[in-house]
Amino acid sequence: MVDLAGQYQKIKPEVDSAIAEILTNTSFINGPAVKQFQQSLEKYLGVKHVIPCANGTDALQVAMMALNLQPGDEVITTSFTFIATAEVIALLQLTPVLVDVDPDTFNIDPDAIEKAITSRTKAIVPVHLFGQCSDMDRIMEIAHRHQLYVIEDNAQAIGADFHSKDGSVRKAGTIGHIGCTSFFPSKNLGCYGDGGAIFTNDDAMAEQIRIVVNHGMKVRYYHDYVGVNSRLDSIQAAVLNIKLKRLDDYAEARRYAANYYNNAFAACDKLKTPVTANFTTHVFHQYTLVTHCVNREKLMAHLQSKGIASAIYYPVPLHLQKAYLDPRYKKGDFPVTEQLCKTVISLPIHTEFDDETLKYVTSSVLEFLK
Ligand SMILES: *Cc1c(COP(=O)(O)O)cnc(C)c1O
Repeated sequence: MVDLAGQYQKIKPEVDSAIAEILTNTSFINGPAVKQFQQSLEKYLGVKHVIPCANGTDALQVAMMALNLQPGDEVITTSFTFIATAEVIALLQLTPVLVDVDPDTFNIDPDAIEKAITSRTKAIVPVHLFGQCSDMDRIMEIAHRHQLYVIEDNAQAIGADFHSKDGSVRKAGTIGHIGCTSFFPSKNLGCYGDGGAIFTNDDAMAEQIRIVVNHGMKVRYYHDYVGVNSRLDSIQAAVLNIKLKRLDDYAEARRYAANYYNNAFAACDKLKTPVTANFTTHVFHQYTLVTHCVNREKLMAHLQSKGIASAIYYPVPLHLQKAYLDPRYKKGDFPVTEQLCKTVISLPIHTEFDDETLKYVTSSVLEFLK
């Protein structure tokens, strides 16, 4: 699905020497590379505070802890996402309230959010799925009207631009009260291990987040809160410093591949190509097709026989996951999500394609469908 080895070859001398420097100076934790990355990412995103942490799941958990959400508080999120989004809500004994998604963008449906709000609702967690922003103008408007926090799960859309109705252009993850991201290797900005970060423009929230990631302490060995230990290590930060400079080029390479796929599949009535909403750019963390009357398993087997990877993100809606079964929900409650889980397929997308490979992938798909 990705070509991390090919990408590494192009930046190898820079990466190898940056890692060697850390091995030599032994500042493995909170070294200068971490500070440099924090500042570079703040500048790139145009956000006041970036707080690095250990992974994207921690970022979401820390955000909810920093907002002091209490057991029983309701958090509205999408039924069509990676499990981490709902997992941390459940871990903190908050109540996940699921809503359906838009059939074109796969992102959370603002009308459905509005209908799900109760007196216990405290926060909304939109996920910018597959690389494009959710409808943040509508989500922020709903949040302001009901005095709710918005935590953006930006693990898949770092670098995407949101074009607001007010004319401003802001980076995904910097529009809500808190944004969260992941630097898992296959993410658009991936390190060579685990990593994550939390963003906010609010000074008080930033301070609280820094306390939570650091064992709930502000003054060393005085613990005012129950916190966690969640750090980005210096080696990962060094890799990220090198890749952040190339993030926009990487997004361009992904868009090129997505465009190639779109053109190749435009005339095929069995495939619906990705739809980008008019208020966002798309950084194509995934290239996801919706199939019509296609035996997905057979298509995947055909591709595999030709040495082409494919994947289903995601095969099971959150409300039908065994660990998350809840009497409040049943099969049929989120028809758009349920239909997508049955029909989507994602093709390889990354930064290292050439036209020959793209042609091979697209012709292999079309050969099966004809
Ligand atoms: C990857 C991902 C996460 C979790 O990130 P980790 O770094 O793997 O913990 C959370 N939400 C979404 C939507 C993701 O894609």
